[in-house]
Amino acid sequence: MSGTVGKSGIVFNIQPYSLHDGPGIRTIVFLKGCPLRCIWCSNPESQNTYPEIGFDREKCIAGKGCDFCKGVCDIGSFSAAGANAELKGSCGGFREVCPAGAIQVYGREMTAEEIVSRAEEESAFYSHGKGGITLSGGEPFMQGDFALEILREAKRRRLNTAAETCGCCDTEILRQAAGLLDYIMFDIKLLDDERHIRYTGGSNRQILENLEMLFSEFPGLHKHIRTPVIPTVNDSGDDIGAINRFLSGRENCSYELLPYHRFGTGKYKLLGREYADIPERLDDELFRKLKAFEI
Ligand code: SF4
Ligand code: SF4
Repeated sequence: MSGTVGKSGIVFNIQPYSLHDGPGIRTIVFLKGCPLRCIWCSNPESQNTYPEIGFDREKCIAGKGCDFCKGVCDIGSFSAAGANAELKGSCGGFREVCPAGAIQVYGREMTAEEIVSRAEEESAFYSHGKGGITLSGGEPFMQGDFALEILREAKRRRLNTAAETCGCCDTEILRQAAGLLDYIMFDIKLLDDERHIRYTGGSNRQILENLEMLFSEFPGLHKHIRTPVIPTVNDSGDDIGAINRFLSGRENCSYELLPYHRFGTGKYKLLGREYADIPERLDDELFRKLKAFEI
């Protein structure tokens, strides 16, 4: 990655005017990189820190003589190379040359200034209902220095700041971020560590320690805790009830359950990966009952 360390990083999407990722109307900045590998992850293109390529073999018209992507980069043409190739640098050339829309490039290098300037353009809408900028991912604090630089720049411009984190991140980075945040969304998937490791690829120990740190050192920061409810993984009253009890009585805290969806399955195919064997849908009645554990 070029640029000053911390001042630029890899972003895979910026979504304006979001109503679902923090208070008010917000600009969501999706940073690449996550230390976990949740089997249900709906953003598989977020997980690696580097830019990646998605290739849709069904759209590719190489069979009709197209070879426009040949020679654009040293990984060769897509019809031959297939998907899941790591892009060197932030080259978006492949996407631009493909006439069939068969190539997606996930991730490009941006500076903190560029990102916050873009959010600021939309800030005319923020004044109603506490909107602002939200860092998301992936795990936004995996590119820790970059995330901090974005938050500092946002604060310099008096923007309201929020972050969505899986909590699996460096404690010192999270501590510094918390000092710059107006609101934090923090996921707890399971309290049972053995099953947490099985379904997310990582322990929940640091996640829970980080959450305790936020509760003890940042009492004024609102913590919105969320659990994505995944069929056969954590869709039991035992699991959700345990999280509810863990949070019960905490100050400045709310708890929300997020319904399972499969919006990301197509992206697994583009990346040449398999989606996990998870039942297609969560039982609506069961989810309605579990919602009673929200705080
Ligand atoms: S430019 Fe697009 S359509 Fe043409 S060969 Fe490459 S991937 Fe296929
Ligand atoms: S923590 Fe979020 S981004 Fe990371 S793998 Fe899990 S679902 Fe995907």
